[in-house]
Amino acid sequence: MPSNDSTCEFDVAILGGGPVGSALALLLAKLSPAPERIVLLQSDSASRYGYAPETDPRVLAVNHGSRVLLESLNAWPERCADIRTIHVSQRGRLGSTLIKQTDFGVPQLGCVVRYGALIQQLTHAVKASGVSVRHAATAEIVCQHAATVELSHGQDTLHAAIAVQADGGNPTEIRRTYKQMALLTKVRASIPRAGWAFERFTREGPLAVLPHPEAADQQSVVWCCTPERAEQLHKLNPKDFSLALTQAFGTRLGSLEVQDKVSMFPLALSVRATPVDGRIIAIGNAAQTLHPVAGQGLNLGLRDAASLAIALRDWMVLSNQQPSAALRQFLQMRQPDRQLTTRLTDLMSRVFTSGWPVVEHSAGLALLAMDMLPGLRAPLARHLLQGLRL
Ligand SMILES: Cc1cc2nc3c(=O)[nH]c(=O)nc-3n(C[C@H](O)[C@H](O)[C@H](O)COP(=O)(O)OP(=O)(O)OC[C@H]3O[C@@H](n4cnc5c(N)ncnc54)[C@H](O)[C@@H]3O)c2cc1C
Repeated sequence: MPSNDSTCEFDVAILGGGPVGSALALLLAKLSPAPERIVLLQSDSASRYGYAPETDPRVLAVNHGSRVLLESLNAWPERCADIRTIHVSQRGRLGSTLIKQTDFGVPQLGCVVRYGALIQQLTHAVKASGVSVRHAATAEIVCQHAATVELSHGQDTLHAAIAVQADGGNPTEIRRTYKQMALLTKVRASIPRAGWAFERFTREGPLAVLPHPEAADQQSVVWCCTPERAEQLHKLNPKDFSLALTQAFGTRLGSLEVQDKVSMFPLALSVRATPVDGRIIAIGNAAQTLHPVAGQGLNLGLRDAASLAIALRDWMVLSNQQPSAALRQFLQMRQPDRQLTTRLTDLMSRVFTSGWPVVEHSAGLALLAMDMLPGLRAPLARHLLQGLRL
């Protein structure tokens, strides 16, 4: 039964043109007979972390599934660094595990891309897709009626049959503050190892060293530690920061020498219990903002976008119908993956910082056991590398 009233000029309004909102716009454009009835509303002000998209210093480890998706959307950045081996270890305790690309028969375990480069590619692809794009102002959802969602964008009022929040989340919904900050920078190693990524669990938080996408001889560092320690480290001169980093990471890559300014990101967990409210759907960081350990946030967000597009496939050609059945299907499809990935990253970010020697030692033994028993290692690694299969 037709249900949308005639004031609805858009089928779908997407709030936020970050990687997840842009990917959804592209997926829906492929399914829609009228892509111009999809509108992407992107604010030009800085994100919640204080950066404009092009200058955001994040480098993102993207898994094989996400790469395949982004390539299919013509949105894969030109420059990326392959990860072929992942070394996971714990500072000051026994236990490490090695995950190799050969264990899974894939060309690489994942790739590292720069946030700004990814956004640039996605923006080009969205421009070519026929989707309507509105820049500058911040979009807000005003209210939802029986058949439409009313939105404001600057001085304009818009109506859409459904609205998708892909705005990176609302810090007021925080469920756990990790009492950790992430320090990001670029380093040069005196003994580089091409294609190797390291995740080292320390008492203060995880420390990741990844291949850098735009400097073959350099590494990206994501160092999570307490806010007090982060402030201290942030004030150090490059030489002293490099020494402190090498001390925390160990000598697997020789000594590490910082090559760039150090940026800070506050870390918190925020999860919406139900990412669908009537005709409003949240995806990506707006649905769940995770700790960056194991690099899961974007990968999970892209799976949200892919599942929403699958659920809306039929509705996109009959958008005057009620979308409720499609949105119920989306909810069912997403809950297991969201819950598992959220719990896993939450556990991983905290287990080695508990301060309880027995817990930390057991976690170290679990790493050791995983290394010796590929049967244990494979399902965990497969989930982190590929996500749940749709
Ligand atoms: C230090 C760090 C390292 C990370 N590393 C990894 C990693 O290795 N791998 C991984 O998978 N994930 C990683 N993540 C997580 C990843 O960055 C996020 O999951 C991902 O960026 C989420 O994308 P998004 O599009 O949902 O949100 P965002 O990237 O936040 O984009 C949202 C966009 O919406 C815009 N916006 C906000 N409000 C409005 C509004 N009202 N109207 C219009 N536009 C609006 C913002 O300006 C922004 O451009 C990391 C995160 C951090 C902090």
